[in-house]
Amino acid sequence: MTHGDVLVHESWGQRAVFATGAARALLAEEVERLGRSRVLVVVAEGERELADRVTEGLPVVATFTGVRQHVPMEVAEEARRVHRDSRADVVVTVGGGSTTGTGKAVALTEGAPLIAVPTTYAGSEATPVWGITDEGRKTTGVDASVLPKSVVYDAALTTSLPPGLTTSSALNALAHCVDSWWAPRANPLSAALAAEGARQLVDALPAVRQDGADLRARQAMLLGSYVAAVAFAGAGSGMHHKICHALGGAFALDHAAMHAVVLPHVAGYNLPASADARRRLSSVFPGSADPFDALLSFYTSVEAPRSLAGLGLAEPDVERAAELAAEQIPSSNPRPAATSDVADLLWSAWRGEPARLIPVADPDLGEKEAGDTDDGH
Ligand code: NAD
Repeated sequence: MTHGDVLVHESWGQRAVFATGAARALLAEEVERLGRSRVLVVVAEGERELADRVTEGLPVVATFTGVRQHVPMEVAEEARRVHRDSRADVVVTVGGGSTTGTGKAVALTEGAPLIAVPTTYAGSEATPVWGITDEGRKTTGVDASVLPKSVVYDAALTTSLPPGLTTSSALNALAHCVDSWWAPRANPLSAALAAEGARQLVDALPAVRQDGADLRARQAMLLGSYVAAVAFAGAGSGMHHKICHALGGAFALDHAAMHAVVLPHVAGYNLPASADARRRLSSVFPGSADPFDALLSFYTSVEAPRSLAGLGLAEPDVERAAELAAEQIPSSNPRPAATSDVADLLWSAWRGEPARLIPVADPDLGEKEAGDTDDGH
């Protein structure tokens, strides 16, 4: 968190507008505000109808629909070619994190400003992090040019998310919050944002599961996921994201569901060593006797996905994933994590066992403050 007496928190400048049912008008305003007149729309085939609705009336010069998860290099290059050929001067993405990520790949090399209209809770729109997969290897980087200039959130665009995806995407956002408490650049600002994001998500998800068309709850989910991603952008990737990055890059597991499965296992590992994170998680579940038990009960109540085997991770790949992830665990982590620790955690997640608290052998570790070193994303 600090270097001596110095505290560092970096905020990333962008405009985010929230208004249910108003995406079309707000998007038009944002395009005009940026002074742009040639729009490239990036959208996955599945969200085409949503995109047609929100971009109606805009000066669209091309539409790219070849979005694929984890942004394969060939997809990035094709989207860039469409951008150049169409002489677009702004990129509008309508969709989940894979769509935003494809728009970021264009912005990275083509210098086009980006406007994001998110339709899941992945949160990519609030970070300057891009990712491209080439020959099975995912490369990520941080570049201010890929941060969308504007984000337009409209809860009406999220009612088509099926219950399973709604839940796993919300838990992906919750993971941004929890991991922010022990990530390399964790600080009191990112930690407070993370607690607020988690509170919104935990309050709203049960209501959305009960009624997927509850626009008030859907809007609270978007707010929560945005705040979560802003916290994550400030704090960087902690142990949870390093593990998921290794799993996602090498084994192409579904992003949101993988985050949902791994989160309670990392929480069970780190919470015993971080009084600060325990206190913050308690504030998300007021009235609960124990924040970890409360997290597990919440998981049960929302029927969260449980097993990495169920997501398609092959048994021989568990040890390999542990090795890849263990190399990346930041030194800010509240306790050390050897390959065997990560492997234990992943085996448990692979089998779909309930996560458990892993006691700390050295009681001094329990008082270590999160985020007292900085090793970037
Ligand atoms: P996704 O974008 O792949 O979407 C998942 C599925 O949901 C797709 O089939 C999509 O067509 C569908 N979908 C999207 N919106 C829908 C809607 N409103 N109704 C019905 N279906 C809808 O998945 P995701 O979880 O949103 O994003 C995952 C990707 O985002 C990963 O590649 C991940 O690396 C990236 N990501 C990046 C960052 C970052 O900071 N760079 C942060 C979070 C996620």
